Amino acid sequence: MRIARVSVPDVPGPVFGVVNGTQIALLKGHPYGDLDPVGVALELDDVKILSPVLPSKVVCVGKNYADHAAEMGGEVPAEPVIFIKPSTTVIGEGDAIVLPPQSNNVHYEAELAIVIGALCKNVAVERAGEVILGYTIANDVTARDLQHSDGQWTRAKSFDTFCPLGPWIETELDPTNLDISCEVNGEVKQSSNTSQLVRSAHEMVAWISQVMTLLPGDVILTGTPAGVGPLSNGDVVDVTIEGIGTLSNPVVLR
Ligand code: MG
Repeated sequence: MRIARVSVPDVPGPVFGVVNGTQIALLKGHPYGDLDPVGVALELDDVKILSPVLPSKVVCVGKNYADHAAEMGGEVPAEPVIFIKPSTTVIGEGDAIVLPPQSNNVHYEAELAIVIGALCKNVAVERAGEVILGYTIANDVTARDLQHSDGQWTRAKSFDTFCPLGPWIETELDPTNLDISCEVNGEVKQSSNTSQLVRSAHEMVAWISQVMTLLPGDVILTGTPAGVGPLSNGDVVDVTIEGIGTLSNPVVLR
């Protein structure tokens, strides 16, 4: 099942719905727990797709593909390295990534994103699937120059628009063997498979939940494979994950 969050003309506020082909069947309330269909279906072309969730936090895993750790000049750390992108970085399908004047080297990072479906803490790996609503596509946009010059990652990862998510949440998906790729202006820049993740999606939910309480709608970015590189004004960046779809965003200068 594909769950999207959309803006509907003449309806105040965003609405969740279930995507079937070219249509979306609207839901009452939120998608955490039992779904409550309104009984109205609209053409996807007649709504605007928003980011599929508004997370309280986006927790990101660094260096979780060995080939990317190597291209960054290091190895996969013995313990996972995590960081947080603020909720205000999140944008949706088709929204513009805005290049800030403080950076001259903003990179794309294609990532599989986990969407949490239930409040949880200290989750066992074997039970991680019970707290996962589904999976979506993310781009962990990063000001690479500031990541290096600052000595830590908060500013580099936190500019508004630096976390495209979407276009929807796929709830029936085995995350362990999915092709993942990134194209800039139609040219393939990253191409890998989630089987290359050092720590699996379920392992990361369990590990992170030993640190912090996860809330419904929270998002975990599982890391990016090799091939990261710069984005320029006027580019279009597409991240594609098998079984979910494509997340496409234009790039503009602030
Ligand atoms: Mg990343």
